[in-house]
Amino acid sequence: MFGTLGITSCTAAAALFSIDTLQRRALSAHTSLRDGDEYDFIVVGSGAGSIVARRLAERRQRVLLLEAGPVNQSPLIHIPLLSLTAFVSFLKKYNWQFRSLPEPSMNDREIYEPRGRVLGGSSSINGMIWVRGHPWDYDHWAKICGDPSLSYSSLLPYFRKTESFETLQAQSKGEGRVKKIPAPAENAAASLRYHGTNGPLHISEPRFRHPISEALIEAACDVTGLFPNPDFGGEEINGFGCFQMNQWRGRRWSAADRYLPKGKRANNAADLHRDDLVAEFLDVRCDATVDRVEFDVLDALGEKEKEKEREGGESIVGRAWRTSVTVKKDGRPRAVGVRLASGPVIRARKEVILSAGVFQSPQLLNLSGVGDRDDLERVGIASLVHLPGVGKNLLDHIDVFVQCENPSGEALGVSLRGLVFQMQHGWKYLKSRLAQWRGEGDGDEDPFMGNLLMSNGVDSGGFMQASPESKWTDVQFHFFPGSFRDYSMRGFLNHMYATHVYLSRPHSHGTVQVVSKNVFHKPELRFNFLTEKQDVDTLLTALKTARKIMHHPLLAKYRGRDLLPTADCQTDAELEEYMRSHAKSAHHPIGTCRMGRESDSQSVVLASLSVTAVEGAGSSKQPERAPWRGGEPWPSTPSVVSPQFEVFGCEHLRVVDGSVFPTHIAGNPWGTIAALAEKAADDIVSTWNI
Ligand SMILES: Cc1cc2nc3c(=O)[nH]c(=O)nc-3n(C[C@H](O)[C@H](O)[C@H](O)COP(=O)(O)OP(=O)(O)OC[C@H]3O[C@@H](n4cnc5c(N)ncnc54)[C@H](O)[C@@H]3O)c2cc1C
Repeated sequence: MFGTLGITSCTAAAALFSIDTLQRRALSAHTSLRDGDEYDFIVVGSGAGSIVARRLAERRQRVLLLEAGPVNQSPLIHIPLLSLTAFVSFLKKYNWQFRSLPEPSMNDREIYEPRGRVLGGSSSINGMIWVRGHPWDYDHWAKICGDPSLSYSSLLPYFRKTESFETLQAQSKGEGRVKKIPAPAENAAASLRYHGTNGPLHISEPRFRHPISEALIEAACDVTGLFPNPDFGGEEINGFGCFQMNQWRGRRWSAADRYLPKGKRANNAADLHRDDLVAEFLDVRCDATVDRVEFDVLDALGEKEKEKEREGGESIVGRAWRTSVTVKKDGRPRAVGVRLASGPVIRARKEVILSAGVFQSPQLLNLSGVGDRDDLERVGIASLVHLPGVGKNLLDHIDVFVQCENPSGEALGVSLRGLVFQMQHGWKYLKSRLAQWRGEGDGDEDPFMGNLLMSNGVDSGGFMQASPESKWTDVQFHFFPGSFRDYSMRGFLNHMYATHVYLSRPHSHGTVQVVSKNVFHKPELRFNFLTEKQDVDTLLTALKTARKIMHHPLLAKYRGRDLLPTADCQTDAELEEYMRSHAKSAHHPIGTCRMGRESDSQSVVLASLSVTAVEGAGSSKQPERAPWRGGEPWPSTPSVVSPQFEVFGCEHLRVVDGSVFPTHIAGNPWGTIAALAEKAADDIVSTWNI
């Protein structure tokens, strides 16, 4: 019944999306950036970066937000169901489309890793699922970093600050809703202890719940003995249920949608006023690629060197590799701006904040001479600060799936079946958008409730401990009432359904390594999935659970042939081989500029010049080598940033994005990245007393 997608009608709906006046003003306030232009703060990258940029602009700081990708105008971004196409492999406009090197532990396959290349960053192309990690994750970070500001109780106000949490109780009359699973609305009081109601990111239950998902939730509870969970971000994370979504009024809700100025969408008059203020102080530039951070090294030099530098001549960075110089004890290069790939150098009076994401923040640090001296030497970059943790500790949720044919045809997919159903939903969606455009109120009901076009394709799932021996939640499930095979349109051309399962806190970790001085050459990625035995064991146990769920009698109505793994794949050895040949990334990479204690950073300033001349700078203390300590995940690579996001060995430079996670979390990462960005903004405000 849920057949062919309403592509035609949806494309027509695209006409209704346009950037609002204030945002357009912010984008076009200056037509070109010139060498020597100055701002208080420069933020690079507009995912987490949008959040930091807005909060600083609210403090009347002149902020420049630079984004390599285009404006987020396309219906492929805004209409939830169509946004599934934004990360298929042939659509390059909004997606960096990273691929790893062939992975020896994964049968030499390259692992595909989409990343947003558009205003809003990956929050403009992601699955919109809004989950935070287990409280244990953040308390553990506080322990790793030796800083209580990272504990769950300290971060909870930031989680709440990001959210406008909507309960849909009043709107539950729409189609497609089955009331078997208690909704957060029914637990509103409990939920509101954990959720904010006045933040910039709209969060709500899914508006379209597929009957197959409802059956999968019931089957999962039966197989595991866990309960339906109405709110994974509430009291308890374990259990199965529907995910909350970043959606509002019929569309995706990304970081760019409310954190960047949008007058018309303000919640109230005070917000409108704030948006005017932000538009005045925040300059947003799309299609602007940064290729390095500019440093002033003068303050870091010994007196003799300072004199030489003042006299002019070749700069100290140019002399790297050739001359021995003395540097001051505790002297650090200070970030003073950025250079755009198009040439101009833009100055930052206060700080540069890198929010270029898990692959490109470490790349930019490397291109600027900050990173592992050996990695930089290999590509001919002079090292200003030897910071060996940059680009290490790449952690991702490895994702393996059980997939069955669905002869009932009741799954998402393109076919002639259900044409009427699809046309109805497409038409209804278009009518609702037109009504919105004409400024007509929604009345009591959300007109998008139960509409197929509001589906993200993965409306439900859950969390559990893979085995009775697990101490913490260590696996997550995603239920797909469709298929997304090979990230190509082929996946939409059949009716299937699937259960995906992934490791919440993987031990196996990889690297991001710069390959040239050119910012447009993508860095090399190595995930090293399933190189640690614990990962293989936990994922194997979880895969068997996923199979039991898929084979539950409640799903008999939908189930056809086992597609993957095939029915004859039964022994542990066969299932392990299946994981190595089919598991993929869940697209949650983190950790490549990980937070930690400075004593774990091994940073050495101006190391490429003459290590012997550096007195007392940095520390040679090795961090813990064991990735797990007493059964707990513990980073085995050096730290890069402080719990206040400051890059060790540098001044006036921070990294604020998913790359700072010290370990992975039980949950999709965007909610946590947004909360961390709110914390970072507060940390910056308190550093500068602004
Ligand atoms: C397909 C997909 C589905 C996902 N689904 C979910 C989900 O459902 N729920 C969830 O919680 N998480 C999900 N994630 C993960 C989540 O969206 C990301 O982890 C998160 O958005 C990353 O935020 P960030 O700020 O760290 O980086 P990003 O949002 O990736 O931002 C980095 C920005 O920097 C820009 N940039 C990079 N280099 C430069 C440069 N040199 N100069 C200027 N700009 C630059 C990039 O273009 C990009 O816009 C998904 C991710 C993907 C790709």
